[in-house]
Amino acid sequence: MDLTRLAEQALACNKCGLRQQATQVVFGEGNPRADLMFIGEGPGAEEDRQGRPFVGAAGQLLTRMISAMGWRRDQVYIANIVKCRPPGNRVPKPEEARACLPWLYQQIDLVQPKIIVLLGSTALQNLIKPGAAITQYRGRWFVDERGIWVMPTYHPAALLRDPAKKAECWQDLQQVMAVLEYMGLHPNSY
Ligand code: URA
Repeated sequence: MDLTRLAEQALACNKCGLRQQATQVVFGEGNPRADLMFIGEGPGAEEDRQGRPFVGAAGQLLTRMISAMGWRRDQVYIANIVKCRPPGNRVPKPEEARACLPWLYQQIDLVQPKIIVLLGSTALQNLIKPGAAITQYRGRWFVDERGIWVMPTYHPAALLRDPAKKAECWQDLQQVMAVLEYMGLHPNSY
């Protein structure tokens, strides 16, 4: 199995009701061997239109955040908890996330990132701790069962709504940069 075949399968998925209302499945994109992976919530309107993750306003901010870390967007891997846009950008329901998560787990298994950044509470709650508040859990490292270091931080959409959160988010990303450095992983090693 590789990411291309997995994407073909995901594009044909009908395991929850989101697919009917979405224009297309937004599988994820980036370096198939990325050391660094970002996981958001789900496609918004622009992502649903283009079929690519994080290409709307929040996505443009994410792209700038990745650049500020010294990486290019095509050097990392970007995915979401759900691959189909929830109507009106509502938060995905637990059963929708549950139906979709096997795709994400397979993406993680294939990419084998060393560090995952969780963007916002939907990613945090579905991957680390149900019901957890991002304000409480951001900036703290978790190590998952595969040995991947996981850092939750604010979703870029939250930073657009409340720019005062940017400083804390940048602290979190600096922790990520420090561990990448410690692991000997540099953007220029690609
Ligand atoms: N917000 C997300 O969580 N994911 C996207 O792909 C775009 C916006």
